[in-house]
Amino acid sequence: GRETRLRVVLRVRPLTCTETQRGDRRVVHSLSDGTVHVSAARHDAIFGFSAVFDAGASQEAVFEGSGMRQLVELAIDGFSCTVFAFGQTGSGKTYTLMGPLAQSDTPAASPGVLGLMQRSFACLLEQSQSRGSDLALSASYLEIYNEQVRDLLRPGPPCALPLRWSKTRGFYVENQLSVDFESLEAIADLLLQGSQRRRTSAHTLNRHSSRSHALLTIHVRSRTVSMHPALGTRGRAWRGRAGLFVACPSKQGTLCFVDLAGSERVKETGSSGELSVEANNINRSLLALGHCISLLAKSGGKRTHIPYRDSKLTRLLARSLGGSGITLMVACISPSSHCLSETLSTLHYASRARRVTTRP
Ligand code: ADP
Ligand code: MG
Repeated sequence: GRETRLRVVLRVRPLTCTETQRGDRRVVHSLSDGTVHVSAARHDAIFGFSAVFDAGASQEAVFEGSGMRQLVELAIDGFSCTVFAFGQTGSGKTYTLMGPLAQSDTPAASPGVLGLMQRSFACLLEQSQSRGSDLALSASYLEIYNEQVRDLLRPGPPCALPLRWSKTRGFYVENQLSVDFESLEAIADLLLQGSQRRRTSAHTLNRHSSRSHALLTIHVRSRTVSMHPALGTRGRAWRGRAGLFVACPSKQGTLCFVDLAGSERVKETGSSGELSVEANNINRSLLALGHCISLLAKSGGKRTHIPYRDSKLTRLLARSLGGSGITLMVACISPSSHCLSETLSTLHYASRARRVTTRP
């Protein structure tokens, strides 16, 4: 119940080929102490975060340095944990969370480029073995597309699911599918299937731009097996002696990965028609999220009205942002001069989020 700040880390991706060929200048420089320096013609600013990963940082370095491993452990301990990636379209959000997996035209990803998700799954399954406790794992995978919640694990054409509220559960999605899994292959397969159903479109900033917000939630139920005190160390043989030990459902945690659709200026991405309707919905929900974050940051832990109901996204993130969750934010930016104004807006957004607190 102690007040805990959101942990915010920053990742600066390398310049892309297009940016290099265009002769873009690098305007973001990371300094050693968790700060970045943005220097351009009329801008000179320094921003500080819990950690900064520059273009050279590997996927593994991001996993180890962001606190993601601890988040996995907290989920096993029964907390509601969320990691979300945000930033401009093409800034590296999907890459950071899942590596190049979502891109069907690239050959199978090598282990080195696997993202935070796959690394967390491995860690979760490893932990579940080493702790000796019996963990039951299941996954659900949703997207919010044009303000509709859709199930990415359900086969067939997408249909909208109702989002409801109850006193005990808070906001929740009705009839969402939750699939049990026991191995790394099984969860990797669910992630792949779901990601392929996700709505993406190509536009000028990113050939595989995600047009929806995606939320993958792992439910972790641990059934700690406690030994009857009178039995002493003979307990090791418990499997063969049903009834001597008490198995009690003890903790239920969640680990949620949120890949936000990127903010974009319609003019720059060459979006029109359906694409611009999508962009407006994306921008509107990101604005609602930004609004909630700034009110939460201002409230300094005091009770104030937060307009979570303004969008589906903020409803689903209510617990992670202002409730009992533990949250890690990965802000993603491009170092290019061409993206300066979006980069500055992501950096301001991220700095504000550092003042948000929850009570896990
Ligand atoms: P977003 O999800 O923010 O729209 P993506 O993750 O799809 O952006 O990244 C855009 C492009 O940049 C992709 O081709 C991706 O492979 C590449 N990219 C992003 N981050 C990195 C990185 N850290 N290292 C190498 N390539 C990256
Ligand atoms: Mg993406």
